Amino acid sequence: METREPTTLYVQDDARPGLDDDAERMLHPDEARQRILARVTPLPSESVRLRDAAWRVLARDLIAGEDHPPFPAATMDGYAVIADDPSPWREIVGRQTAGTVEDIEIGLGVAAWITTGAPVPDGADAVVPVENTELADEHVVIHQEHVSPGENIRPVGVDLAKGSVVLKAGSIIGGAEIGLLAGLGVDPVEVNRRPRVSVLSTGNELVEPDERPGPGQIRDSNRYSLVAALQEAGAEVVWAGHGPDDADALRAALVERIAESDVVITSGGVSMGDLDLIKPLLAELAEVHFRRVFMKPGKPFNFATCGETLIFSLPGNPVSALVGFEVFLRPALKSMMGAAEIDRPRVPVRVEHAVRPSDRIEMQRAAVRVGEDGRLTAATTGPQASSRLASLVGANALLLVPPGGEELPSGSTLEAMLTGPLVAEAT
Ligand code: AMP
Ligand code: MG
Repeated sequence: METREPTTLYVQDDARPGLDDDAERMLHPDEARQRILARVTPLPSESVRLRDAAWRVLARDLIAGEDHPPFPAATMDGYAVIADDPSPWREIVGRQTAGTVEDIEIGLGVAAWITTGAPVPDGADAVVPVENTELADEHVVIHQEHVSPGENIRPVGVDLAKGSVVLKAGSIIGGAEIGLLAGLGVDPVEVNRRPRVSVLSTGNELVEPDERPGPGQIRDSNRYSLVAALQEAGAEVVWAGHGPDDADALRAALVERIAESDVVITSGGVSMGDLDLIKPLLAELAEVHFRRVFMKPGKPFNFATCGETLIFSLPGNPVSALVGFEVFLRPALKSMMGAAEIDRPRVPVRVEHAVRPSDRIEMQRAAVRVGEDGRLTAATTGPQASSRLASLVGANALLLVPPGGEELPSGSTLEAMLTGPLVAEAT
C-alpha cells in the first residue's frame, strides 16, 4: 500500500518578501497562526476561591509548603507493631484511628489497633493488615510469615515533599490539580483571567432557533456552536447576539463589543458579496492583519486588532466557522489564558479511504480510533461540504490533507490534529 510522508499543516509558504504586511496576501495556516499569536498578550492573573477554580489556568507554580502526608500514616487497617519483634503474640495497648493522635508508645510485645490514614504511633515501624492477624483476648497473633520495617506505612512527604514543584504555572486545574491545591491549603488560588469574548453572527437570513424561518431564512446556528466552543476552550462569553447585514447596525454592535471584550468573534459577511460588510467595517474600525488563509474550509478569515481587542471574523458556513475557531482561535485563547498547552496534539494516522486533495490545505473531518494492528486509523465523517455541520459530528480529528497532487489511496498516512478523545469503536 502506498503511504505518504505525513505533511505538517504548518508548511511555510515560499516567503514573498515585501508582501508581509499586505493583509490581502493569502497566508499559510502556520503563518496566520504566528501572526495571531504575535498579537496575543497574556491576561493578568486574578484570585479566585478554590471552589470556582476548576478548569481555570494556574497563574503560578505551586510549591508544596508542607510535606504530604504530614505524619507517617497507616495505609491499611490493622496493627501497628515493631517489624522485627519476635514475640508470638502482642498485647493491644490502644486504638489509633484517623483524625486524632493518641498517646501510644509501641515497644516489643505490644501492638495498637490502627485504621487507614491514622498516624503511626511512636515506636512502631510497620502495620500488619487485620486479615493477617487473629484476636485472642486482649492480644493479637500475627499470621504473617515476615513483617518488613516500613510495611503499610506512608512516610512523611512521600506523596509531596515540602519545597517541591507540584504544579507548573499554565496547568489547567482539573480534578487532580484542584485536589492538590486543596490538600496544600491553597484557597484562594491565583489563576489567569479568562478572555472576555463577544460573538456576533451576521446575516439578514438568520432567525433564532426558536423562531420559524420565513421564506429564504435559516436559523442562526454559528452563534450557538461558537459559544459552545468558547466554553470548552475556557473563555468567558460576555455577549452573544445577531446583527443584520446593515453597515450602521453592525458598526454600532462592533464598537460596543470591542469596548467591552478581549476578543470579538463575528460570523458571516467576509466574502466578496456587496452585503459582506464585515470586511469594510474592520478596515474602518481596526487594524487588519490578514484576510485570507490557504486552507479549506475557511479561506476567508479576517484577523484584526483594535487597541487591545482581538477581532476574528469567520466565514458564515458552519463548518468553516468551527474549523477556523479550532485552528486559530482556540490556540489564541489558550495563549491569552497562559495555558502551557495551546495546541491540539498532531499524530500520523492511516486513512481508511481514498483522499482527493484540493487546491488548498484541507482539514477533513474524521473519526480516529486505534485500529486492529494498534495503529491510529482515520475514517471520514462523510461529505465534506463546508455547509454540512454533520461532518463535524463524531469527528475527533482534522485530517491535514496537503494540497494538489494525485488522489491518495486508502491506507495512506496523513497527519491529523486530534480535537477530541479517540473513538472507541469503528462506526
Ligand atoms: P456568509 O459568510 O455570510 O456569506 O455566509 C455563508 C453561508 O453561511 C450562507 O449560506 C449563510 O446563510 C450561512 N450562514 C451565515 N451565518 C450563519 C449562521 N450564523 N448560522 C448558520 N449559517 C450561517
Ligand atoms: Mg452573510
